[in-house]
Amino acid sequence: MRRFDGTQLLVATHNAGKLIEISDLLKPFGVSVVSAGALGLPEPVETEDNFVGNARIKAHAAAQASGLIALADDSGICVDGLGGAPGVYTADWAETPNGRDFGMAMERTWRELEAVAAPFPRNAQFCSTLVMAWPDRHDEVFEGKMAGSVVWPMRGALGHGYDPIFQPDGYNETFAEMSPDLKNKISHRADAFRKLVTGCFT
Ligand code: IMP
Repeated sequence: MRRFDGTQLLVATHNAGKLIEISDLLKPFGVSVVSAGALGLPEPVETEDNFVGNARIKAHAAAQASGLIALADDSGICVDGLGGAPGVYTADWAETPNGRDFGMAMERTWRELEAVAAPFPRNAQFCSTLVMAWPDRHDEVFEGKMAGSVVWPMRGALGHGYDPIFQPDGYNETFAEMSPDLKNKISHRADAFRKLVTGCFT
């Protein structure tokens, strides 16, 4: 495992929220963080059919373009009864000509489960993959998961994306009913970040 040996980390995202979340997490390690958006780097096309492949594309493109060590993430929900869909297409299921509509994406998820009469509980996993890439093309991969089930109707107004239909195993609340503090402790993303920090920063 290669450790982070730079002073500045490039976060391969154009999403300001993700940048703040990652800078906060890495503050204790004295790492200064800059985003691909702030450097005006283009967003590469995600052509792979799996989270690791797409996170690798984003991390390596950013490391090659900037000469900095770069961190990228890719995430989504994989529903067992749908053969792992929407998976890498999680955000795509919400796309409309007027922006993203996650209500529509959640309705589609339930409709497709009904169409195949998927057995209960309707198991699913949220997955988060982080890839740290070095300018010499070395990379390290960290995968986080949270297992749970898809529930209907939607419950809760907190969180984002598919949170209202995902009930993590061992809890009676959906991600959208849970306090953000609790979600951020048990989520797929927290799992991946713990592995990243253990592997590359401590
Ligand atoms: P990306 O990793 O930014 O491509 O995001 C993939 C999509 O997965 C997001 O648009 C969300 O819809 C979904 N997603 C990822 N993590 C979560 C989560 O914690 N809650 C709800 N939806 C999520």
